[in-house]
Amino acid sequence: MAHHEDDPEVSAPAKDAAGVQGVWTGMRYALGKPGVARGSRAMLRINQVDGFDCPGCAWPEPAQRGHFEFCENGAKAVAEEATKHRADPAFFAQHSLSELATWTDYELGRAGRISQPMVRREGSDHYEAISWGDAFAIVADNLRRLDDPNEALFYTSGRTSNEAAFLYQLLARAYGTNNLPDCSNMCHESSSVALSETIGIGKGSVTLDDIHNAGLLVIVGQNPGTNHPRMLTALEKAKRNGAQILAINPMPEAGLLNFKNPQTPRGVIGGGTHLADAFLPVRMGGDQALFAAIGALLRERGAVDHEFIAHSTTGYDEYAAGQLDWDQVTKATGLTREEISVAADMFADSPATIVCWAMGLTQHRDSVPTIKEIVNVQLLRGMIGLPGAGLCPVRGHSNVQGDRTMGIWEVPPPWTDALEREFDISVPREPGFHTVDAIRAMRDGRAKVFIGMGGNFASSSPDSEVTQAGLQQCELTVQISTTLNRSHVTAGRTALILPTKGRTERDTQAAGDQVVTVEDSMSCVHASRGRLEPASPFLLSEVAIVSRLGHELLGDHIPWRIFTEDYRSIRERIARVVPGFADYERRIRGIGFTLPHPPRDTRSFDTTDGKAHFTANTLSVIDVPDDRLLLQSLRSHDQYNTTIYGLDDRYRGIKQGRRVVFMHPDDVAAHGLTDGQRVDLISEWKDRVDRRAENFRVVSYPIARGCVATYFPEANALVPLDHTAKGSHTPVSKSVVVRVEPAAVEVAAR
Ligand code: SF4
Repeated sequence: MAHHEDDPEVSAPAKDAAGVQGVWTGMRYALGKPGVARGSRAMLRINQVDGFDCPGCAWPEPAQRGHFEFCENGAKAVAEEATKHRADPAFFAQHSLSELATWTDYELGRAGRISQPMVRREGSDHYEAISWGDAFAIVADNLRRLDDPNEALFYTSGRTSNEAAFLYQLLARAYGTNNLPDCSNMCHESSSVALSETIGIGKGSVTLDDIHNAGLLVIVGQNPGTNHPRMLTALEKAKRNGAQILAINPMPEAGLLNFKNPQTPRGVIGGGTHLADAFLPVRMGGDQALFAAIGALLRERGAVDHEFIAHSTTGYDEYAAGQLDWDQVTKATGLTREEISVAADMFADSPATIVCWAMGLTQHRDSVPTIKEIVNVQLLRGMIGLPGAGLCPVRGHSNVQGDRTMGIWEVPPPWTDALEREFDISVPREPGFHTVDAIRAMRDGRAKVFIGMGGNFASSSPDSEVTQAGLQQCELTVQISTTLNRSHVTAGRTALILPTKGRTERDTQAAGDQVVTVEDSMSCVHASRGRLEPASPFLLSEVAIVSRLGHELLGDHIPWRIFTEDYRSIRERIARVVPGFADYERRIRGIGFTLPHPPRDTRSFDTTDGKAHFTANTLSVIDVPDDRLLLQSLRSHDQYNTTIYGLDDRYRGIKQGRRVVFMHPDDVAAHGLTDGQRVDLISEWKDRVDRRAENFRVVSYPIARGCVATYFPEANALVPLDHTAKGSHTPVSKSVVVRVEPAAVEVAAR
């Protein structure tokens, strides 16, 4: 394959998000890869009540659906699944693993849908076709041959349906392990930990109506224009209802500034809707200091809800006794006291405040105390369990929250006794490996079988070299996938690809067409019905794959075959085992139902003392030597996690390229660099290992001073495996200390 030369065109960043350009781009993808007929059919069914849930992000659907209930990136996600391109046996015969290893993640993805089960036998450099029966026999045989079930890893990506996730955790636990690492470990684990410890539940406390009716919306460490685009419609509605918006981010993302809603005249021919009323260009990792300062200013001004504090919280005195060091605050945030004071005014004046956040908060060393500081500010004002107020971690993957609710977690779920009773099995109680521990176990030879339910572990994980070497030394790797990606190329000694149906595709079983369910970021559980013909007659559904493996490995003590024939039988079991799912089958009709959330529903807290907890958090500033910079990895607008749809990032002015590093013009000058120059990035950490990522084009950009940004998965090579968030073990991908050197390729060419 002729590789694309990564030499991007660069222009000024955009000041508006979406617009007619968004529609045009979305249609180009939707009608391009799948073809006009298949693409149109898909676009008419995405996020419709009788259609399928968008496999993109976890932003909720409104109760009243429009004809076009999707965004540009939803169209890209569906097009990726509905593509005509096929990675079939002929493709794998033509392209060896050694050759495929030289392809970029974008080029691998363009190969399309994997059409048949494939095996790479030990010593071979090619995948070859295999029957399903033989494939399951290989997996079961390898698992049975392990000395200990804890030498196996059952990884889950957040696209897996509730039904498949419930069976997958049942399989792993009945087999004898809690090794259920998942993508949540790398994204919102810090949110789950901080919220569970302070309000008694690891989920957000707001609904879509709350967003529409908030007085103040604070968007911190999140880029909704790219990662949750239909959130902009909700922000527009909130603005029309009089809301204020405070945006906090090292980068002035277009989706925080102005929204041109292409479904409104104002968005097509007018100026769109101005979003952020105030923007704080906070330094990476400075959010804890920022919210500690806002809390102090609110207390100073007496802008606190004493009645709520007295009645519903504990720990206030210890929290309020903390002395704030403003020098530390201004150093950590890169902001002035005046700028922070403006933000505190907005909190103080708001009758109902929601704080929304994403990865920009959760992938730092101090992410857990940072989120706890946000909880402190909201508790100060009594902003929980009130209309238009609350805490809103916005999830990435479309069902990552549902998977956790279904027990995809390395810690045995609180309903494990019920699970044992329901299936007459005994489940291990020792916590298993989270994602970083799973990588350590593969590196150290303590894990020998890796099974991936969706996702792209090789590219989404930190410390790419270590992760990929760990996968390659496994005796067996199994990838349950839709499209080709790097994890198929980073194969174990024996490797299997088990191609599964996508969420867009009709899933017909013995009892007819099946429905699956998902849970969005606001705890709404709803049905998804595949509507497109499957990409290949050889595909099996996620449920069928897990059930056939369960049967092959464990026999029929658990009725795997019945589960495949009719998914209602799975939901019956879930209804009896998982709290909040009683009457499951009836409640998923129509727009679905919202799971209980005590703080949201009744201002009650399922904590040790039944109160919400203020916390006193120690503030520490990330120490960056003068001639070093702080790097964050991020997505381009043409990407969803490690799936690269295209090579443009139109909101940031990047065209046809990915190896760019965004840097403040003053830092470009201070480091003796020039815009457009090629550089290598080397991360530095206490283990004194130099991790390199090479040949990036310097792009002068209005990013916070001392901070730089580049895309992942390219940047994941710079993230040390053992550099994780305290308390959540999430890789620190948003504040990596780097040095920048002229690119070796350029130096060599001189
Ligand atoms: S906002 Fe998210 S879920 Fe909704 S259509 Fe866009 S990508 Fe899909």
